[in-house]
Amino acid sequence: MTGPAETRSIKSLTLDELSARFGGLGEKPYRARQVIEWLYRKRVGRFAEMTNLPAPLRERLGAEFDERPLEVVRRTGSHDTTQKFLFRLRDGQMVETVLIPASPSLYGDTADRRTICISSQVGCAYGCRFCASGLDGWKRNLDAGEIVDQLLRVEGESGERVNNIVFMGMGEPLANYDNLLRAIGIINAPWGPAIGARHITVSTSGLVPRIRDLADQPLQIRLAISLHGATDAVRDQIMPVNRKYPLAELLEACAYFRARKKQKLTFEFILIEGVNDSPEQAAELAKLTKRLDAKVNVIPYNTVEGLPWVRPTERVQDAFMEVLRRGGAVATLRREKGHDIAAACGQLRLQTTRAQAGDENPVAAPGSVH
Ligand code: SAH
Ligand code: SF4
Repeated sequence: MTGPAETRSIKSLTLDELSARFGGLGEKPYRARQVIEWLYRKRVGRFAEMTNLPAPLRERLGAEFDERPLEVVRRTGSHDTTQKFLFRLRDGQMVETVLIPASPSLYGDTADRRTICISSQVGCAYGCRFCASGLDGWKRNLDAGEIVDQLLRVEGESGERVNNIVFMGMGEPLANYDNLLRAIGIINAPWGPAIGARHITVSTSGLVPRIRDLADQPLQIRLAISLHGATDAVRDQIMPVNRKYPLAELLEACAYFRARKKQKLTFEFILIEGVNDSPEQAAELAKLTKRLDAKVNVIPYNTVEGLPWVRPTERVQDAFMEVLRRGGAVATLRREKGHDIAAACGQLRLQTTRAQAGDENPVAAPGSVH
């Protein structure tokens, strides 16, 4: 990881750090506040356009910091629909970000939310069997600036102001913990985009020690757990991470988080035919959900080209929900827009990189876990 002291990405730095860096360059610290205002209030990212800075300083900043924004490679969707952005990073790697227009929240209320789904890594090391993001393994962590810039770029391109953030894009956010928290600190800062911690949700496949770390830090960030199985037998089949952190340990960490924070946890449960869609799984899931005072989002599986998994029929989905609710769980089924929200990330990149590579047979790519 590039430490904040050496980083060249200006959007990786807090106001205090930037002021200190300016001090080190022999510049007045108030200049740092001016730059921050350009970046996060006026939304101007190029030093050349920061007109209240002296020209020599603008040049100096250009030499000292990397000001290049993420480059939009592809954009799909339009206003009123889910929009997906594929971004090219400085080293040519690609990640994607999804904007979901004003819609009932992912979390059951009906507030007017514009939600952005952010990526935290290029690829993913965790290799969940159903997921497009991990198909080619892990490439690298995003730095904090690359995380923050997804928000700035999507707002700039769409003309929308985002008020809800979910880390459900490519990657395992808790495996990039320091950069994640740094980025959230910037996104949450009063001088930055100023999005409240309660409107920021981190989704994890279950990195137990990091869940505890997150519980111990002061921000009231929301946590979503990708459960996808209510027993070790089912989880082991589809999520290799469960062998390292089995269900009992994961649930203990969830209880710890719940005890330290005021808001409820969310369990995500994608329904895959013949894998985890039985009434027995639903009954187990209801028990866990109640025990942890959590909510559960059930998401019918979104097919990934080349993977064998399929979404159960609506009848099976409804039956699953019925058992859950009878078991006393607070549960929502995300049938419409929902299914391509969480699953959207990873798939656009997969299509594009493989089309570029001229890959005829997407599943047999090197590094595939399947
Ligand atoms: N690594 C983190 C966050 C990224 S994945 C995590 O696993 O939680 C965000 C969510 O999308 C997870 O719940 C993940 O299981 C889900 N997901 C992945 N592929 C999907 C698919 N094809 N259909 C539906 N949801 C999917
Ligand atoms: Fe990684 Fe999450 Fe996909 Fe699992 S579901 S491979 S942890 S991105």
